[in-house]
Amino acid sequence: MTPEERLAALLDDASSRGVKIMDKAGVWHQRLADRFLRVVWLGRMKTYMDGYVTTFGRAIYVPSDFSQWPALRRWQTLRHELVHVEQYRRYGWVLMVIVYGLLPLPIGLAYGRARLEWEAYEETLRAVFVSEGRDAAHAPKLRMEIVRRFTGPDYLWMWPFRSHVNRWIDSALSHF
Ligand SMILES: [Zn+2]
Repeated sequence: MTPEERLAALLDDASSRGVKIMDKAGVWHQRLADRFLRVVWLGRMKTYMDGYVTTFGRAIYVPSDFSQWPALRRWQTLRHELVHVEQYRRYGWVLMVIVYGLLPLPIGLAYGRARLEWEAYEETLRAVFVSEGRDAAHAPKLRMEIVRRFTGPDYLWMWPFRSHVNRWIDSALSHF
C-alpha cells in the first residue's frame, strides 16, 4: 500500500466515525490555547499553532500546512491522534480533561497525561513499524524524540523520568 492509499483509507474510516479534521488557526479556542501556552512556556513554545496536532473529542486540530505534509507523516500523526479520539469516547470529556490536564499535577508530574500519551505513542511506534519497517521503529532517533516529548517542555514535562519512558518503549518494541 502506498502512503497516499493508507492515508485515504484512514481518512475515509475516520470520517465515517464522525471524526473531523480542522485547521487550528480557524478555531477560537485553539488560538486561545496558543496564547495561554506561550505564557506558561514563558515564550519558549512558539510552535503550538504550526507544529502540533491536538485532539478534543472527535475533532483533530491540525496546523494550516497539514495538507502539504507528506502523506506518510500525516498518516502516522493521525494514527496517534485517533487513539486520543478513542480515549475521549472511552472516558468522556470530563474525565479526559481532568486526567490529561491535572493529575496528579498539571506540570512536571502529570502521570495521567503521560499514560494517555503513552497509549498514543505506542500507536505511533506501531504505525512507523507498519509503514516503514522494523529498523525505522527501532531507530534511536525516534526513541530520543519520544523520550524528549515525555520529559521536556512539549507536554509540560509530563513525566520527567527518562529511564521509565525508555522501559515503556522497550516493552512496546519487544512486540515488533
Ligand atoms: Zn498525543
